[in-house]
Parts: sequence; C-alpha cells; structure tokens
Amino acid sequence: MSDDHAYQAISAYDQRLIQTPNIDRIANEGILFSNASVTNSICAPSRAVILTGKHSHINGKIDNGKPFDTTQVTFPQLFQKAGYQTAMFGKLHFGNNPKGVDDFLILPGQGSYINPKFIGKEKDTIITGYVTDIITDVTINWLDKKRDKTKPFMMMYLHKAPHRPWWPSPEKLAEFYEKEFPEPETLFDDYSGRGTAAKTAEMNILTHMQYMHDSKVRPQTLESMGDVKPEIKYIRGESVVRPGPNGFMGPFNRANEDQKRKYNVTLDKINKDFKENWPSMSDKEKMRWKFQRYMQDYLATISSVDDNVGRVLDYLDQNNLSENTIVVYTSDQGFYLGEHGWYDKRFIYDESFKTPLMIRWPNKIKPGITSDEMVQNLDYAQTFLEAAMIEAPNDMQGESLIPILKGEDHKWTRKSVYYHYYEYPSVHMVKRHYGIVNKDFKLVHFYYDVDEWELYDRNKDPKEMKNVYNDPEYSEIVEELTKDLYDLRKKYKDSKELDQKFING
Ligand code: CA
Repeated sequence: MSDDHAYQAISAYDQRLIQTPNIDRIANEGILFSNASVTNSICAPSRAVILTGKHSHINGKIDNGKPFDTTQVTFPQLFQKAGYQTAMFGKLHFGNNPKGVDDFLILPGQGSYINPKFIGKEKDTIITGYVTDIITDVTINWLDKKRDKTKPFMMMYLHKAPHRPWWPSPEKLAEFYEKEFPEPETLFDDYSGRGTAAKTAEMNILTHMQYMHDSKVRPQTLESMGDVKPEIKYIRGESVVRPGPNGFMGPFNRANEDQKRKYNVTLDKINKDFKENWPSMSDKEKMRWKFQRYMQDYLATISSVDDNVGRVLDYLDQNNLSENTIVVYTSDQGFYLGEHGWYDKRFIYDESFKTPLMIRWPNKIKPGITSDEMVQNLDYAQTFLEAAMIEAPNDMQGESLIPILKGEDHKWTRKSVYYHYYEYPSVHMVKRHYGIVNKDFKLVHFYYDVDEWELYDRNKDPKEMKNVYNDPEYSEIVEELTKDLYDLRKKYKDSKELDQKFING
C-alpha cells in the first residue's frame, strides 16, 4: 500500500503521466478494479477502515486527529490467531503501535522521507537513506531472514510516498525535473458548476500550495526577491502565513552533507528558474509553473515506489513464493493531480473517492481482467480473511470480493456504496459530507455550516463539473437516490445523532 497514490499515476489505469511497469505487473497478472473507492478519503481513517472492516463512525477513527481505538479488532490479529506469521513495515499513522503483528517497524506519525526514524517492536531506530528504499529493504530482509518458512505469512508493506511534501530521492528529483507533464483539462476550474464546499476548499495549487514546503523554493531565494507575496491564505487562521525557518523544506533539513550536495544540484536549477521567471508571470503562468513542480516531485516519488514494488515481486519470484502468495496493491485513497486546480484529497469527487486496487492470485484470478464493480476499502478485511479460510467476525461491514476475484460476478449484488468525510473545520477546509455513489450517479449532502446537496451524472459528466441536483430532469433520480442513501445510512448504522456526536467531539 502507498499513501495518497492517485490512480491517474499508475500506467495500468492511465498512461498520460507515468509508466509504472512493476505495479502494472500485479494488474497484468491479476485483476484491476476501476471503480474501487474509500469510505472516507483521508489517511489514518482509511487505514482504520481497512484494518477493522468497519466504517469510520463504527471504528471511531473519523479523522487524523484522535489516536486509533486499539480495542477494535483488526484483521492482522485474526491472521495471527489462525497461525499466520504477521508483520507490518512502513507507515501506519495511528498514534499507537499495531496489534496482531509478530514484527513491525513503523514510521512515527507522518514519518520522514530522508533518514527516517522508525518505531520498532523492541527499539526505535534511525536509518540513513531514502524512506521508500528503506521500507523495502526492511520488508525483504524480513521475508528473507526473519520469516518462519514453515508458516504462512501475512505482511503489510506500507509506503509513506507519495504523501506531501513529495520529496523524491536526489536521483529521481534530477530525472523528473527535466520532464514536462500534460495538464488536466480542469486545471483552471472556477467551480461555477459546484457548491460552496468546492469554492471554499483550501487545496488550490495556485492559491494554497506553498513555495518552500511544496515547490522546493529556498527561503534565501524568497528573501532575495523581496516582493514575493506569500501565497497561503487560510480562512481558518484569517491571516497570511509564511513558515518559520524551521518549517522550510523540512525533509531537506534531515539530509546529511553528502545527500544535500546531491539535492542541491537540482535545487539550484529550480531556484534559479523561480527567481528569474516568477516575478513576470501571470496567475495562469504561475499555476502552470507550480503544477509542473508538483508533478515532477509527486511522480518522482511514485517512480521510487514502482522500482521498489518490483524488488519485492522479484524476491517472491526468485524464492518460489509467487505461486502461492496473494499480492494486493492499493492506496489509502486517491489524490488530485491538478484536476479542478487541486492537490490533496478528502472529497467524494472521483479523484479522491476512488483508489487504486489490483490483486494477483495465481491460478485463482484470471490474468489481466478488470472489474468495474463498486468495491471499497471496507471490503479488504473480509476478502483477505475468506482467502485464508479464516472466519470474519459478524460485525464487519464489508463484503468479501472473492466472488469477483473468481469471476463469479453474478454472486456480487452490491449496486452502490456509502461515503462519509468528517475532518472539518481543519486543514484544507473541506466541509463535512456524506453521500451515495453507484456506477451512474453520485448524490452528496454537505452539512455542518451549510446544508447543500449535489448530484453528478457520472456518465454524462465524468469530470463532475456540473451539479444537477436542481435540474428538473433529474428529480426522479434525486428522489430515488435520497431514499437509497438513507437506507444505506441505516444499514451501516450511521445517523444524524452520530453526526452530531462527532461534531461535539
Ligand atoms: Ca493518505
């Protein structure tokens, strides 16, 4: 699993931006889900849904703030109890240590891209190098040296990349800085077809992305330019913010002298370009400049993930493990790569609602198949448990994907899925909302400090540019979907009372 990996940045889904031959192997040799989604598009809550098989309002991890409730049963505990050797390496972001794993090495909180610190079962450690390579080294080392080869295993290999602030390795930064990427059609969306939530969200590349933290512009460069306006306008803070000296290029500050020297070769070029060209740019040109910088860094981190996924797949091949190992690749949610002018996630709109999902299971899943069924991260736990012939607890809320994996799609009856996002007011200011999505439509209710509904026609308007909730032509659809939405809320035990409870904290 990776963190914030947009399906647009996997070539098995989309060829426009990057080639990911290693991740694609999983799809080519297994199944790719084109309509996989999350129930709540934000990091730690999504992980909690994956581990518990329960919606956020049931497992309690509704936002990134509070620690995970460790009394919740997670699927690794069930694997461990069933005699599997279990392990977890990389990013968890729960505020506490994982349960049900025999071995773990996890990043504290968000973790660092460069020379990261890890929390271990026995002791904490700092490992020199680039985080994506290190998580893979640790993973392969466990498979090779620590695994009990007489037992089956369940291992979670969890990348921090490509999470913000998108710090590549020095080599990938140099390589990707030379590339130019196609802009999405909706880069300059003015949100006129949508409601208040889209208009007030603070995740616009031009307006909210930060020179230093995100675009790798040095504080010295900005100071020498004098008249560059800080671009961050927080509604929440009501003031313009410029990070203090310790907030500059955080990951870079962790680098040793040798690493800094390598980074500086490219950082010099970026800063020279910014200093020479930024002052004379129009807003449109600034948007384009920041978009390119963003894509160069984001995709460079993905390129490392892809290389390293290849290393793990190669290890499985070389050690005769591929035939009898289920390999799953997914992310904790999708991400905006400039669509609607945005970065980040959180919304029920497609780029953040959907998540990559591909599964390889030799001799069970036919190689190279695709499914457009409405599956969710909620379903993973029950799927893995059924695959391992372990009984899932009755209170898990997902559905096993095994019928789809076996090509018995007629046994899969779900038509629509439920979504609920909570983290507001908070960073990026995406309003609280819940909704229902099926293959054809998406109905959303934004609440808390607004009471607004949106309906999107997924077939006629796949880029979700026009809210048709008040269009009389859709009145029957609205009526039908509203009823279905409330049926789903009932089915999953969500309610107005719970919404209020979480608002009250
Ligand atoms: Ca994430």
